[in-house]
Amino acid sequence: MLRHSYLIKKAKIAKSPISGRGVFAKELIKKGEIIAVWGGDIVTEKELKSLSRKGFPAVYHYATQIAEGFYLISDRRGKFLEDDDYFNHSCQPNAGIKGHLVMVAMRDIKPGEEITYDYAMTDAGFKYSFKCSCGMNNCRKIITSYDWKKKYLQRKYRNFFSWFVEEKIKKLRRRR
Ligand SMILES: [Zn+2]
Repeated sequence: MLRHSYLIKKAKIAKSPISGRGVFAKELIKKGEIIAVWGGDIVTEKELKSLSRKGFPAVYHYATQIAEGFYLISDRRGKFLEDDDYFNHSCQPNAGIKGHLVMVAMRDIKPGEEITYDYAMTDAGFKYSFKCSCGMNNCRKIITSYDWKKKYLQRKYRNFFSWFVEEKIKKLRRRR
């Protein structure tokens, strides 16, 4: 079967206490298992800007930067969302990112648990900030697209940043 993205059969979309809808484990997901592979359309920075001007202002909510000048967007017209768009942010996540945009379990995830990742793992592109409602003890309260620069997060999520963010961290270190 052809598809734009992949979500593990052991997960489902449901109403989330964090925000809107989220992705939840239906069965035990083992540490290291692939939970999702994000897909969609690839656009350049210029195309992204033009989409946001031409009747799709929310495009930035569905875009993830995958390389300098390139973005992955899940749906050009905003009419439907891919399953992988529902992953909420948490400051104490149970999933991380590998390579280009593969999501893996960082630990065993029990049935009923919401599957979350830290947006700092993927977001280093356009500016944003929002109030976090993950409810964890270590909650950062305000999440920004600069959080990937925090050294303690770089240590905590070592090997769980997207390739794009990983490269940016390396560059930053070289400059220090
Ligand atoms: Zn939080």
